[in-house]
Amino acid sequence: MPPLLPNQLLFSLEGLPGFDAAAFAAVHASGAAPTSIRINPAKPPATPPGKITPIPWSTFGYYLDQRPSFTLDPHFHAGTYYVQEASSMFLEQALRQTIDLSKPQKVLDCCAAPGGKSTLIQSLLSPDSLLVSNEVIKSRVSILQENMIKWGAANTVVTNNDPRDFQRLENYFDIIVVDAPCSGSGLFRREPDAIDEWSAANVGLCWQRQQRILADCWPALRQDGILIYSTCSYSREEDEDILDWLMTEFDAASCRLDLQPGWNIVETTGKKGGDGYRFYPHRLEGEGFFIAAVRKQDGATFSTPRRLNQPEKPGKKEQEMIRSWISPANPSGFFVHQEQIHALPESRLTDLAILQSTLYLKEAGITLGQAAAKDFIPHHHLAMSPMVDTGVPSLSVDREQALQYLRKEELHPETIHRGWVLVQYEGRNLGWIKTLPQRANNYYPKEWRILKRE
Ligand code: SAM
Repeated sequence: MPPLLPNQLLFSLEGLPGFDAAAFAAVHASGAAPTSIRINPAKPPATPPGKITPIPWSTFGYYLDQRPSFTLDPHFHAGTYYVQEASSMFLEQALRQTIDLSKPQKVLDCCAAPGGKSTLIQSLLSPDSLLVSNEVIKSRVSILQENMIKWGAANTVVTNNDPRDFQRLENYFDIIVVDAPCSGSGLFRREPDAIDEWSAANVGLCWQRQQRILADCWPALRQDGILIYSTCSYSREEDEDILDWLMTEFDAASCRLDLQPGWNIVETTGKKGGDGYRFYPHRLEGEGFFIAAVRKQDGATFSTPRRLNQPEKPGKKEQEMIRSWISPANPSGFFVHQEQIHALPESRLTDLAILQSTLYLKEAGITLGQAAAKDFIPHHHLAMSPMVDTGVPSLSVDREQALQYLRKEELHPETIHRGWVLVQYEGRNLGWIKTLPQRANNYYPKEWRILKRE
């Protein structure tokens, strides 16, 4: 039996658009939450883990008819898909309906860990766009980095900054997504333990923090740029009231989104006429969610600083070395950081210099590897990227061997190739091994190794 929903929350939701106390209580009592994944379109298609049904507002999202053990699915570790609840995939509509995604865009995902929204945004952007995925809490940056590395895209940067640091980038971003920390009532069905932690006092702390985050990053949005705000809370204080506050405090014009009737998403309006969208588990196959988009009217255009320290370019020898590792179909800009060679879209090298001078970068583009005296030492990030050349030696493994590899156990592959080999499962790259005469060294990142057994 899940814990009882807090009475104080239920009272506060009475009268909100789309709220139905009896249906809401029933759906929480049933405890049956749908499982959904979003496919990574940049990786070769794979057999999905179960029977799938498309999520109506999402291009790459699917419901699964069961919840498999994702930890024991090698495709999950290969970044073939991301496990994400369906309502939050509506972010796609907020982006598509407000911005021309065929053009290069600079996007900030301000509260990004563990990376659900960032991986979604990345799949919709053009290759020459740039996504900055930021997480302020240090201990949560590593999971964000892991998920972004597995997603394998070159046009992303991961930062570990306080939202207020983005004020140094006045008018820089075309899009800012604030998927704010919130009181979390929208996830009660999936995380019943959170029910006991809910309090009206915490809702109060949350809306104040949400205002602070929005006020901090608003200056970084350019004139006519789009800010998308979302929470997984049902509380009006964190949803419509924040939209009202945003439209009072700043010159922000609301963006109305088109909904299809079968989606069962509820339109809601703030007192200032701002359009918001509410998602309830008793109305649709997804968890509780709120989203709204506004266009900035009080901004200007960004001016690139005159003096910038350009990123260090790889030398001739290093460029020679990397040539055989990357597919020629992937033209890129290259730079060196702490001896590692990275690839980023050529057109984004100046942006990299701007970001390096203002923020704390944890990851930028694809880390290709390091040129040692005789050898090139490929990085795991390169294995996760579609940039890796198809001619690189590879070893196809079955599921059992794939799990051995992901547990970082020793492998004894039957391959005559000596040196770096890409381990592949059903055509998807899992990482590197280095083969020696009697055995192979397993280079799977040790902090990511799986501990679970069947
Ligand atoms: N967007 C993420 C995704 O889709 O995977 C989920 C983000 S979660 C709702 C909110 C994030 O905000 C958390 O990662 C949390 O660590 C971060 N956060 C907490 N306090 C914050 C603050 N004061 N400023 C900015 N972010 C904060």
